[in-house]
Amino acid sequence: MIDQSPSPVAYKRVMLKISGEALMGDQGFGLNPPTVARIAQEVKSVHDLGVEICMVIGGGNIFRGLQGSAQGMERTTADYMGMLATVMNALAMQAALEALSIHTRVISAIPMDQVCEPYIRRRAVRHLEKKRVCIFAAGTGNPYFTTDTAATLRANEMACQAIFKGTKVDGVYDKDPAKFADARRYDKVSYDEVLQKHLGVMDASAIALARDNHLPIIVFSLDEPGGFCGILRGEGTYTHVHG
Ligand code: UDP
Repeated sequence: MIDQSPSPVAYKRVMLKISGEALMGDQGFGLNPPTVARIAQEVKSVHDLGVEICMVIGGGNIFRGLQGSAQGMERTTADYMGMLATVMNALAMQAALEALSIHTRVISAIPMDQVCEPYIRRRAVRHLEKKRVCIFAAGTGNPYFTTDTAATLRANEMACQAIFKGTKVDGVYDKDPAKFADARRYDKVSYDEVLQKHLGVMDASAIALARDNHLPIIVFSLDEPGGFCGILRGEGTYTHVHG
């Protein structure tokens, strides 16, 4: 029998990467619950389309390793503190999603069994198949990395079809659109151009990992209500980073 059910979205499984700063609202530090709730609502609207969702949330709203090492702290210790910050953000997002009746799992690269699940790849895949949102916490579990790289790594491991990088602007620009009125947005840009022109989509190791595994990156505005869901339906403006 031919399956004639409509396919409203181009993606079956995606990775959503957001920075920790996206959760702090106008506060300048930490977590702003209404902001977390608003992002959870964006995730729900995509979940409602039947898309399987992985998430990685940074920790920059609480602590960044480089910040700690600049203040004289040993880099690896500072990075572990940064990784722990991402666990707090992941738990906040889990609570906000559960308030919307979305089943989630927080899955940590650093085992902390009383708090969340340890990362076991096959188990995480099973959660996704059961339509649970998987929030990958504690980065890669290694210092000297970022959560952009963690998102790219997990997206590859989970066989995501794309990484959706939610930012404050609707794509990648040739210069900062907040500072330059003539900044031009790319509809499409190659991984190599991003690296050569230092376009600041993600850090270089994340871009290289995406490029080497042919994983597209969609850069879009998380501040645009309905933006995430709209792009999955083929609407809205964004930049597609590709090979
Ligand atoms: N971090 C790390 N290894 C990882 C991921 C993150 O050591 O695999 C640390 C690092 O110190 C980083 C911090 O966690 O500064 C928070 O992550 P990130 O800076 O990527 O957060 P974002 O900028 O996305 O909020």
